[in-house]
Amino acid sequence: MSQSQSQDNGKLYIVGIGPGSPRHLTLRAVEVLEGADVIIGNGTYLDQIEHLLTGQQVIRSSMGKEVDRASKAIELARDRKVAMVSGGDSNIYGMAGLVLEVAQHSDLKVDIEVVPGVTALSAVASLLGAPVVSDFAVISLSDLLTPWEVIEQRLEAAATSDMVIALYNPKSRQRNTNYIRAVEIIRRYRADTVPVGIVKNALRLEGESVSVTTLGEAMDYDDEVDMSTTVIIGNSESRIWGSKIITPRGYHKKYEY
Ligand code: SAH
Repeated sequence: MSQSQSQDNGKLYIVGIGPGSPRHLTLRAVEVLEGADVIIGNGTYLDQIEHLLTGQQVIRSSMGKEVDRASKAIELARDRKVAMVSGGDSNIYGMAGLVLEVAQHSDLKVDIEVVPGVTALSAVASLLGAPVVSDFAVISLSDLLTPWEVIEQRLEAAATSDMVIALYNPKSRQRNTNYIRAVEIIRRYRADTVPVGIVKNALRLEGESVSVTTLGEAMDYDDEVDMSTTVIIGNSESRIWGSKIITPRGYHKKYEY
């Protein structure tokens, strides 16, 4: 089925604004934000794009009000260019899913464009060198919308498959035991020597920190893990090189270098 056009020339853009620093916004994101009539998002994300707020109507929404935010954006997009901002990429634990779901159930016709952004995984991996490169699994430890039993099953499946694992949402203020439980599950299947990268506030203007350790010692870095951190756990072939992590893609099996 083709997507319907808005009734009155409005359009809704769901814009991934990257990990934080303005330099990591895509050109398309900047173009859309500059051309928007209304920009809607939570305070943290609006602060990240403050330099682009030059007269557009700005609607600040709070965390936990995502459904209201989505409905409001759809309503406004009937006759205006509305940009809803989402951190990183809006498909990765971002607003794209909810907005499309609400739009599907709404009677309003709205034209939607999803603008991709640099996700935390890419930002974090870039600071660690090359920890991903091969097959990987991304798992969020937030059990607000996914039951913990399901998260545990996914952790086990990823750990047994020897995929590199990236943990999003490792902790929040209310929820700080999920991370240690996740590390314990992964340790059942992976050696203590497997490299672990812990990166906080990657490619943001403030508070960036990068640590490289091993699975056996990961909990010594527990204090660095919070809601602004992503943790990458290597596979059985990953290795530490100085302050970097390398996961070989497999070239060494075919070529000499
Ligand atoms: N849509 C976002 C992810 C939202 S979930 C994206 O694509 O990046 C929120 C989680 O993302 C955080 O708890 C953290 O694990 C991760 N995250 C987001 N930005 C980050 C950054 N700059 N540095 C490290 N982790 C980050």
